[in-house]
Amino acid sequence: MGLVVMGPKLALGPGSEKEARMSESNLADDVGSVVHHALETTHAIAVCPFHLDLTIRVGDDAAESHAFARARKLVKSDGTRWRCEVLQTEFGRQLRRAADRYCPHCALYAAKRPLS
Ligand SMILES: [Zn+2]
Repeated sequence: MGLVVMGPKLALGPGSEKEARMSESNLADDVGSVVHHALETTHAIAVCPFHLDLTIRVGDDAAESHAFARARKLVKSDGTRWRCEVLQTEFGRQLRRAADRYCPHCALYAAKRPLS
């Protein structure tokens, strides 16, 4: 997957990254936030410190599996958990949207291991 260099006004969807800063209880009810939080806390993705809207996929399979397991355990405020298919769809969406290993704006290197 090659890098796509985009302009500074990167057209992301309406604010799902900002919603990830919500409190834990609300977070569990929004699948986008659940997945983003799980990916971020397991370091499967990193947020560029200079471009806070931009997520970078680290490319660590173990971290992504760990993130998925973590998201599956999260209990919503109604006491239920997210369905596996719903989480898979959202994981796929967020990982596809994330930049691949580098921030395309400042070329910050996020990977823990070299490109192979
Ligand atoms: Zn950056």
